[in-house]
Amino acid sequence: MSDNLNAKKYNNIKLAVGITEAVLSFVLLFLFVKLGLSKYLEETIRTYIQNNYLVLLLYTIILGIISSIIFYPFSYYNGFYLEHKYKLSNQTFWRWTLENLKGAIVGSAIGLPLLLLFYFILNAFGNLWWLPFAAVLFFVSVVLAQVVPVLILPLFYKVTPIESEELKNRIMELSRQSGMKVKNVFKFDMSKNTKKANAAFTGLGKTKRILLGDTLLNGCSYDEIETVIAHELGHYTHKHILKNIIISTVFSFATLFILSVLYSISLAWFDFKSITEISALPLLVLWGMLIGIIQTPVSNLISRKFEYQADEYAVRSTQKREIFITTLNKLTDQNMGDREPHPFIEWFFYSHPSIKNRTKYIRSLNTEKI
Ligand SMILES: [Zn+2]
Repeated sequence: MSDNLNAKKYNNIKLAVGITEAVLSFVLLFLFVKLGLSKYLEETIRTYIQNNYLVLLLYTIILGIISSIIFYPFSYYNGFYLEHKYKLSNQTFWRWTLENLKGAIVGSAIGLPLLLLFYFILNAFGNLWWLPFAAVLFFVSVVLAQVVPVLILPLFYKVTPIESEELKNRIMELSRQSGMKVKNVFKFDMSKNTKKANAAFTGLGKTKRILLGDTLLNGCSYDEIETVIAHELGHYTHKHILKNIIISTVFSFATLFILSVLYSISLAWFDFKSITEISALPLLVLWGMLIGIIQTPVSNLISRKFEYQADEYAVRSTQKREIFITTLNKLTDQNMGDREPHPFIEWFFYSHPSIKNRTKYIRSLNTEKI
């Protein structure tokens, strides 16, 4: 129990820091626009550059740098200090900095061209911008789903096929049952950063694959690993990746439409005249954050439903209920998960059910073999 008190403390601090950061960034961005600093920044850039797209690019980069300086203490505390305090991290300070820089570069390489495209659409389509831009986001999410496991993940981790023939054969057998054609099972070197363990089912079409953290491989027996794989295969048989793409597309069409309305209405409150004013664009972020308060629990609710479905598949396909429960408990402890978060916190923030609810659900299942 004292272990869980420790885990509870770790999770609560992380959450409190995260919420403070979110509130502070909302307030600061609001003041940045309301006090005219946003206009000032745009005008200053325009004294050097005239091209709208270059102005937007520079404006965004400057804002990005300023905000990462302001929020550096938060990311240091949550991402480095706490992880070390609770003995979860294997990273040196420089390694952590390097990984963050890499993340920022990859994020900008994807995000900045998307931003320029957004601005083009805003100019070309006026108030109807949300429609073509949501279509673009859909296209990007499909491409990213295919590209992440083969191009992006290897930038951060060494991804290699697992070595054990026995384990590989067991996994192949399980995947054959599920109807998924697995050519190979991969591991990635999570252990260079963390003691936490994880497994994932990623990709789309030809790039879909099962990925296991080496931390999971090292800490679990083959029986235990089998149950984790079966859970991932459950996501596959229930077509969760595809469903997630469809759901997030519906969400993004709806959200962008609402955003476009709120954005147009609120322009005048801040003395802006046109939707294409670069210094007005942070309003979209502000509204987006408010909409996110509604969207977060809804998408987590769906995600938890998918997790339960995958759990049911894991139990019914392997017939290893107790081993699965033991494994989930082990992973919760290894990842310092809160075993019993406050129901509201779980409902709002948790993409996976807490271990308490998960165990209860798994015990209640009909275990007839699939
Ligand atoms: Zn899952």
